[in-house]
Amino acid sequence: MSQTSNPLRQFFRQPAVYIKLPSDGQFWPEKSINMTENRELPVLPMTAIDEITYRTPDALFNGQAVISVIQSCIPAIKNAWDMPGMDTNAVLVAIRIASYGHGMGISSTCPACKTEQEYEIDLRSVLESIQAPDYTFILTHGDLEIAFKPASYQHQNTANQLQFDEQRNIRAIPDSDIPDSEKIKKLNAALARITELTVDAMKFNIASIRTPQALVTESEYIQEFLTNCDRKLFGQIRDRVIAFRLQSELAPIKMVCDNCANEYDQGVNLDQTSFFEAAS
Ligand SMILES: [Zn+2]
Repeated sequence: MSQTSNPLRQFFRQPAVYIKLPSDGQFWPEKSINMTENRELPVLPMTAIDEITYRTPDALFNGQAVISVIQSCIPAIKNAWDMPGMDTNAVLVAIRIASYGHGMGISSTCPACKTEQEYEIDLRSVLESIQAPDYTFILTHGDLEIAFKPASYQHQNTANQLQFDEQRNIRAIPDSDIPDSEKIKKLNAALARITELTVDAMKFNIASIRTPQALVTESEYIQEFLTNCDRKLFGQIRDRVIAFRLQSELAPIKMVCDNCANEYDQGVNLDQTSFFEAAS
């Protein structure tokens, strides 16, 4: 029996909000998204299964939980692994609004008087404040023109995991039961590996490098270039990639302390299981 013949179908969850992606569908491979005519995507509230999926720590860590929930709640998104990094926060905030409403309680400690208080933030204004980085920017270096793009969720997630693993390896070295000379060797190898990972992550943020003779888009050529270019240019590219990533992050919320009236910025972090816990 097909799903469409189910008389209960009209009582299934309905779109609760509509979202315009910061990327407006740019940087998405065509097959990964069904863009609507008015460029707004319907967002459904989470099902009970979505909620359970999102709370499975392993699935959350490897990114699969986030992907499953996104594809369940925003059916227009066919493959969320291809989602450009600039859309991640907007998508997660929209799903949270669709599922639990726009109010979200956060606890915040005033840096001046150390009073901890509960605040309710309006996720609609968080959503509105999300800006798309300007990827028309070109970095010029001598005869080279370097164009950038956001890394996909998949590339970002893999890079984060590998970095995490390598940092854990490094932390384990001092206590390991091997001679000091071996420890130093291991440490150097791990640091070299982290540099490699940085290059790896950077190459996915470069759209193309134009020379007077060629336009290079192949990631293996770009990777080779990054490991062989001078350190000054490498630093410029890295700083630009970091700047793009910071622009995609959520703006901190302006807080006023109830106790001492101190005004300060409170960061909002979506990258945690608690983000998808019901308000009540
Ligand atoms: Zn205070």
